[in-house]
Amino acid sequence: MQNYNEVLKYTEQVLDIIEKAEVTKEEAAWIAKETVDGFRENVNPGFLEYRKSVTKDTQFASVEWKDSGRNCFVDVHGKEYIDCLGGFGIYNVGHSHPKVVKAVTDQMAKQPLHSQDLLDPLRAMLAKTLGMLTPGDLKYCFFGNSGTEAVEAALKMAKIYHSEEGRSTFIATTRAFHGKSLGALSGTAKGVFRKPFMPLVNGFRHVAFGDIEMMRKTMAACHMVGEDVAAVLLEPIQGEGGVIIPPDDYLKQVRELCDEYGALLILDEVQTGMGRTGKMFCAEHYGVVPDIIALAKAFGGGVMPASATVASEKVFKHLFDNPFLHTTTFGGNPLACAAALATINVLIEENLPQRAAEMGDYLIAGLRDAMKGHEDKVLEIRGKGLLIGIEFVNDEIGYEVAKGFFDNGILTAGTLINAKTVRIEPPLTIEKEQCDKVCETFAKVLKEMNKEAVVQG
Ligand SMILES: *Cc1c(COP(=O)(O)O)cnc(C)c1O
Repeated sequence: MQNYNEVLKYTEQVLDIIEKAEVTKEEAAWIAKETVDGFRENVNPGFLEYRKSVTKDTQFASVEWKDSGRNCFVDVHGKEYIDCLGGFGIYNVGHSHPKVVKAVTDQMAKQPLHSQDLLDPLRAMLAKTLGMLTPGDLKYCFFGNSGTEAVEAALKMAKIYHSEEGRSTFIATTRAFHGKSLGALSGTAKGVFRKPFMPLVNGFRHVAFGDIEMMRKTMAACHMVGEDVAAVLLEPIQGEGGVIIPPDDYLKQVRELCDEYGALLILDEVQTGMGRTGKMFCAEHYGVVPDIIALAKAFGGGVMPASATVASEKVFKHLFDNPFLHTTTFGGNPLACAAALATINVLIEENLPQRAAEMGDYLIAGLRDAMKGHEDKVLEIRGKGLLIGIEFVNDEIGYEVAKGFFDNGILTAGTLINAKTVRIEPPLTIEKEQCDKVCETFAKVLKEMNKEAVVQG
């Protein structure tokens, strides 16, 4: 018999905490303990090892508590961090942007979720907005809750578009990341993520990212053996793969190749979209219009989970006859749509794509300055807009730097197992002074590593 009284008491206690903006020292200690215990006993103890490894003196990771301004957050003990990880790219408009929060809370007070039967207005208005915002003839929208779902929908759209002809081959690229559901994972490239779950969806080939000749040969070979390619699935700049920027003419050549063979081009802009790289969509840097674009992460303004798969009418019309061929209960809910509408408004009103371009140039220049004399440790600093990667000589050095950043109140994306390239992906609202602090800290951490090496040697 479960003890409902115990459940009742515990949830009351947690609801009390949720209600509070500030906590006492005792409450903070309780929260930290419950969090670590909960992860160990009921979430996944693996996370504790993984986060522990990043923090000072291998103590357990900080327990986060609330946002602090647009570009920072504070942990439960009151320590502030500049957020250079940006939730892997969800905070483009900054943390808790008041306009996004207001849209969501206003909608929340009226009707948080939709009836599922009547026509919900915000879905229509967001779709219209995206039709205006996305390049070329992209027009019809399917809404989901995550990047994975956006990619999954794109793959299904490509399949149904080609269903008469029976094409079901997809070309993806090495080092790609498209999510971890069985369909999206088939496009994802990392062996460790894929291998335990084989066999995945049939028909996926992977070619080297940026290598147009390999893609051309694969496309031709697929055609010759009667397995014509339904679609090419591509990130315009690879995010998780370590901020890999392809040759300038690559995307355009892929577009031409797709047209030559009647394949669709799916651009996964889950991470590069919504202003991150210095344009609203990264494809605009290269003057390319995809047949399908996948958006998520920053699409919900860092307030709501939200994703969109936007396609041209030529592609999407195959779902007109039966719109129930692909649906999800929560996708396109009023709270998510309110958040996305406010996010798009803010991106334009505050000119954030351009700000990303400018601050990105500033930050990259500063980081390059800071690495001078440390070429034995840092291989390269690259990026577009505020999607920046620092590539180290090896994982160990990258990990030491990520740890140094963390100890100095700057959160970056670098972990014990994956730190050869540390990603810097702050909110597009990051201030110049905060960029300066990041660069100063980078220089300081690199210098201290020299000293330690001397002492150890
Ligand atoms: C993060 C990411 C995804 C997966 O998004 P989720 O919201 O985590 O499901 C897909 N594609 C790209 C390019 C991403 O960066």
